[in-house]
Amino acid sequence: MKEKLLKLLKANSLSEVVEEIKWVCKYLKRYKGIIAIYFVLGLFSSVFSMGGSVLSKHMIDTVTGEDHSPILLIALMYILFGISSIIFSAVSSRISTKYSTLVTNEIQYEIYQISLDVQWKYIQKFHTGDLINRINGDVGTVSNSILTWVPNFIIKAFQAICCIAIILYYDPIMALISVISTPVVVLLSKTLMYKMRTFSKKSREVSSRIMSFIQESYSNVQSIKAFGIIDDFNIKFKMIQQDFYNVIMQQNKFSVLTGILMSFIGMIVSYSCYGWGVYRLWTHFISFGTMTMFLQLSSYLSNSFSSLVSMVPSAINTLTAVRRLIDIVELPKEAKDETIDIEKIKKESEKSGISINIKNARFCYDDAEEVFNCLTFDAHPGEVVALMGPSGSGKTTIFRILLGISDIADGVSQLEYGSSTCKISASTRGLFAYVPQGNAIFYGTIAENMRLFNRDATDEEIITALKAACAYSFVEKLEDGINSVIEESGTNISEGQKQRLCIARALVSKAPVILIDEGTSALDKETEMQVLKNLTEFKKTKTFVVSTHRTGVLEICDRTYVIEDKALTVAES
Ligand code: ADP
Ligand code: MG
Repeated sequence: MKEKLLKLLKANSLSEVVEEIKWVCKYLKRYKGIIAIYFVLGLFSSVFSMGGSVLSKHMIDTVTGEDHSPILLIALMYILFGISSIIFSAVSSRISTKYSTLVTNEIQYEIYQISLDVQWKYIQKFHTGDLINRINGDVGTVSNSILTWVPNFIIKAFQAICCIAIILYYDPIMALISVISTPVVVLLSKTLMYKMRTFSKKSREVSSRIMSFIQESYSNVQSIKAFGIIDDFNIKFKMIQQDFYNVIMQQNKFSVLTGILMSFIGMIVSYSCYGWGVYRLWTHFISFGTMTMFLQLSSYLSNSFSSLVSMVPSAINTLTAVRRLIDIVELPKEAKDETIDIEKIKKESEKSGISINIKNARFCYDDAEEVFNCLTFDAHPGEVVALMGPSGSGKTTIFRILLGISDIADGVSQLEYGSSTCKISASTRGLFAYVPQGNAIFYGTIAENMRLFNRDATDEEIITALKAACAYSFVEKLEDGINSVIEESGTNISEGQKQRLCIARALVSKAPVILIDEGTSALDKETEMQVLKNLTEFKKTKTFVVSTHRTGVLEICDRTYVIEDKALTVAES
């Protein structure tokens, strides 16, 4: 039983590795031209370094009288060589920086794009710090490997094969001795790699934990200060760092031991070659010159061999990074309904608006208890429909269903416009303007925030919306008016001011349906009533759904639904 399980585990990890390699190959194929450029640059740089030493040897030999080359010509060549080497290194730095940045950007963009397309219920399970770490660190590791590891590997492997081929030509037995360790190394590396993989995974995980911790600390810096828990956070941070240190040291210990083992094997091989060479020389089978060449070649060979071995850990780190990217890339995406043309629906609904119709819907988060077992409600153009219910009863969930962020299990959820209907999904999201619960202001100017759903909104339209949301009174007083900068998470304005900006932003959009999730909860009663009254002026063809705790709001609502026993009932007016 245990053996079977172990086998399964190994098979799994092997198929994982195959999948990871395939993933890298996809990029190798895409960037083969760039990889070729890196390869040529690498070759040239070794030609430059070796050529320089040959020229300098000739120059010294000429001066010491051992050689009779034209000294001036060689000196000139040496200078030319030096200059070209400077030019080459400048050009090479430009080229490699250009392509490494381009490739990193492209992969990063691809992962970013895909991760935003993933269904919310999957992506929200990741800590944002972890996601940042993956999209920064892991993407960097992968792109760096594709551009440098692969060409280096080819160069080193090519060198090793050339050496073996030359040795094979002069002395097949010598060649056999030099490759005899290969099966041992291959067998050993299988187990070693498995362990290295585990270490590499662990270190990436701890590094994600560090990033998550830092991210969370900075975004809650006000609370950390207010709670007086700075010392606790310092201690926690030190502890995570200690974990990181432990993992890195363990990983290093393992790789040092592996290195010693590999060098030991290399030493045995190289001594055996040496012994065999001496024996052949002694029996006059080979010449002195051949012996010297063998010595040079075998040192060359052991050099490329140890470089190849030292490339293994970075290959494993790359595959670990690839796995962490695959983890995100392969999450289920939101289903797109290509038949839905949002712009067309918006146009068609301009006059008559859009109705929402949900019938007998059931909904639960994953395996948790049902939030709704029979959700039925509708909202029509020209109406303000209120959703009421205690905290945790499912108000926000209803908005998620309407926005196609969460999918219902059973029942019907559709939109009606004119005489047509369409199912609510991620593809119909463009018909809604949403004022979420909690903060949803982005770093940037007020105007930038206002144009988020409507790029072409004019300053006048923005000001009209700000006035309707009772926000212009404070925006007007800011030094730069609508061009004032809102800091990250809107820390430089009040909660209620943020809410009013969010409502204004929804009004600036041309969306036919506006959803407000407790969007006036931080306002005083009077302002709240004023905002809601102003909204009704917009309502001619727009449909409004607002969730709220306060009964005062109900005065201006056309219909109120109360959430009770996992269902909605219409409240008596
Ligand atoms: P409300 O907005 O009325 O306060 P919510 O719609 O946010 O309530 O939550 C309804 C219920 O669903 C709560 O019991 C809450 O714990 C649960 N819930 C909300 N979001 C999630 C989620 N992402 N995963 C699992 N359960 C959730
Ligand atoms: Mg809520």
